[in-house]
Amino acid sequence: MDAYEALVQFLYRAPIGLVQTDLAGTVDMLNPMASNLLMPLARDGALDNLFAVLDAVAPQVRQMAGAFDEPSGVVCDALRVPLDGQGAPGAPQVLSISLMKLDAGRLMAAISDATFDAQREQETLRRRLRSAARTDALTRLPNRAAARDQLQDLLDRRVGKERGKGSAGETFALLFLNCDRFRQINDTLGQSAGDRLLGSISDRLLTALADRMRAGGLAPGARIDPSAGGAGLVARVGGDEFVVLLDGLRHPDEAERLAVRLLDALARPHEVDGAQVACRASIGVLWGGAAEGVAAGDAAGDADNAIRDASIAMIEAKRTGGARHVVFERAMRERAERRADIEAQLRLALAEEQLFVVYQPVVGLNPDGGTDHSAGVEALVRWQHPTRGLVPPFDFIGVAEECGLIDQIGDFVLERACVDFMRWQAVLGPEAPRLMAVNLSRAQLAQPDWTAKVAATLARTGMPAASLQLEVTESLAAQDEQTQLRLHELKALGIKLALDDFGTGYSSLSSLHLLPVDTVKIDRSFVCKADTSHHHRVLIEATVKVAQSLGMNTVAEGIETVGQLDAVRDQHCAKGQGYFFSRPLVSDALVAWIRKQRRA
Ligand code: C2E
Ligand code: MG
Ligand code: MG
Repeated sequence: MDAYEALVQFLYRAPIGLVQTDLAGTVDMLNPMASNLLMPLARDGALDNLFAVLDAVAPQVRQMAGAFDEPSGVVCDALRVPLDGQGAPGAPQVLSISLMKLDAGRLMAAISDATFDAQREQETLRRRLRSAARTDALTRLPNRAAARDQLQDLLDRRVGKERGKGSAGETFALLFLNCDRFRQINDTLGQSAGDRLLGSISDRLLTALADRMRAGGLAPGARIDPSAGGAGLVARVGGDEFVVLLDGLRHPDEAERLAVRLLDALARPHEVDGAQVACRASIGVLWGGAAEGVAAGDAAGDADNAIRDASIAMIEAKRTGGARHVVFERAMRERAERRADIEAQLRLALAEEQLFVVYQPVVGLNPDGGTDHSAGVEALVRWQHPTRGLVPPFDFIGVAEECGLIDQIGDFVLERACVDFMRWQAVLGPEAPRLMAVNLSRAQLAQPDWTAKVAATLARTGMPAASLQLEVTESLAAQDEQTQLRLHELKALGIKLALDDFGTGYSSLSSLHLLPVDTVKIDRSFVCKADTSHHHRVLIEATVKVAQSLGMNTVAEGIETVGQLDAVRDQHCAKGQGYFFSRPLVSDALVAWIRKQRRA
């Protein structure tokens, strides 16, 4: 066989279809592979003209050939032609067609079955899309969906193992982590700094978990592979929320130790844009203890429930001050459900105006024994619930703070208090209360535009700034710089500040001078023992002395008896408040109370 014949033989048997035609597509030659591939497309079984055969599936080939005016060259290269559904099962689904102009009169087409290639490409694309949908774009960690699936796999596997009685005593922990005050960091440093902080947090978590695994104590084969199933997983499941999933633990202590280790790792300052940023976090730990059933939290097989239970424990950690971990207990879930219920009803209450404000008189205690009934009032919110009756603030302020409704409630109370205050000036003249005290909670101060909002309320209602006193608790006033800044802004408006419930918090008399307050309110728990306990009397006396030396006013809260009144007056406390004078009253009743005092 000579070389030419060998080439012809090769082309004849080539696993690629070859067709030679004239410029109009009329077939001069084709090899068996070409006729195999093209025959299903030939309507009348004739393969006389390539363009005619391809017209139904790829009419552009004819057009491209017609438009090609070079003497020779590539007309089209590896054109993908889907055959949608034509041909028998197992027959090619996609063809790849290349067309060459050989010379002034001839074309050569190379045709191959691209079904497999196309499928593989599509699979790769699908996988890429899928992994993008399961990866958090910011931290490159798995996202909530991915964490959920992996946890579900783990729970399913556990159920299987349990049945097979294998690996008893070995179990998993789910840690739900949320940064404390991340919103504040975002507000102060800007969102892009916040993003970088999240990146730093995710690095720390991964490193801490990897160290933990290297340190041993895990099942053999334990590895961190965030995308595939593994014994450890770190995922970002929300804005500043992460979960850590660990399999193969033997004792709940191990999970708690890991939580402590993660908190330590995060507590070191993070370098963000050249600044050192502190970030504390709260962690909820769910222990999937095999000994106590599938999971301690009744998570019994459901990933969403498990994540929810861990997050409930996290909220508990936050409620008790943050920067700590709390292990999930079943009672927490009931509490959380009750809170969710209150939250839903509170939203309705705001919409249906079930909230109202009552005012408790604050009287001036003259050293000569007289009382000034117009010294001021304190505004206290009430909730008239359609079925539960009157709900005290203690039962809903905390929930409102957690779910963000406190902003709306606070705005409502402030506005109503100012409006009522101005009305009293009109109806009572010189006998109207001279000061309006309104309670403030921490979340309200976190609003970046709060000072401006207060200024707007004052302007709208005509309320003089000097007649408004905002009450903050010790723990709030002693907060970070941001809070201090807000308090100073308020003072700059001319508003007065009072330290509420003094004596119950952490700050002491020695740090009183650090707080930008005008008035100290001595907590009821001291006042109620003012006449019976020497110890409490001494504490009240010391508080009044220190406050006076700093130029601050004092108010004794919760005076219920004449004995308590005499005791606090003896200590030179400037003002008093309590059931002894009056319970909190609705606006009209307060007007009547003041008028009655005048007549008395
Ligand atoms: P607080 O600011 O220390 O208010 C004084 C509380 O003591 C009020 O309870 C008042 O009714 C009660 N009280 C006054 N005198 C006596 C007394 O002689 N004996 C006894 N046993 N209690 C007395 P209330 O209205 O239930 O409010 C409780 C707390 O809820 C308030 O403590 C305050 O921290 C918070 N709060 C009330 N209204 C608001 C509000 O509008 N916004 C915010 N953020 N917190 C509020
Ligand atoms: Mg108060
Ligand atoms: Mg108080």
